[in-house]
Amino acid sequence: MAADVAEARREDAGIVVAHSDFGGSSISGVTFSVAGMPPLVVLNSTQPADRMRFTLGHELGHIVMHKFPTPDMENEADQFTSNFLLPTEDVKPYFAGRKVDLPLLAALKPEWRVSMASLVFAAKRAGAINEGQAQYLWKQFSIHKIRLREPPELDFAPEVPASWPARKKSRDGVSTSRSYCPEGRPLADGPRGA
Ligand SMILES: [Zn+2]
Repeated sequence: MAADVAEARREDAGIVVAHSDFGGSSISGVTFSVAGMPPLVVLNSTQPADRMRFTLGHELGHIVMHKFPTPDMENEADQFTSNFLLPTEDVKPYFAGRKVDLPLLAALKPEWRVSMASLVFAAKRAGAINEGQAQYLWKQFSIHKIRLREPPELDFAPEVPASWPARKKSRDGVSTSRSYCPEGRPLADGPRGA
């Protein structure tokens, strides 16, 4: 899995990605969509890179699937990003013949640039573990207190949006995301458990 593929694909699709600290808010990301303009996804730069990547995929899911809100849209966007970042057939060989435990999840995290939690979902989707084994792993997450914050030593550097600085420079006098906000359709996403 190439490191920057996910973000590059989004930018190729005409989506502008920017980072913000959201003034200390715990919000993970927000999307602004205005007719005739590329969607703007702003990610919380204070969150770990695996969380930022998941959020970006989640927001992309909303952009491509939810022109109009649906009752299950949050779950659908989560499923979208899970499959986008960890395609079942691609990830399956990484679990084959191996014991899916915390050390394996920790080893795969920097390679796939996703959370250990995302890897549990992918392992289940790929048939490498069953529901009981997944539940056992979630208990291990709780015991080791990594459910909400995975080990910092496994953190990796976030991807830097490529299109934002260029666009910013080319639009003289048009300032930041605020120009999108008044007419925007904000889709705010708070922290999700796993
Ligand atoms: Zn959402």
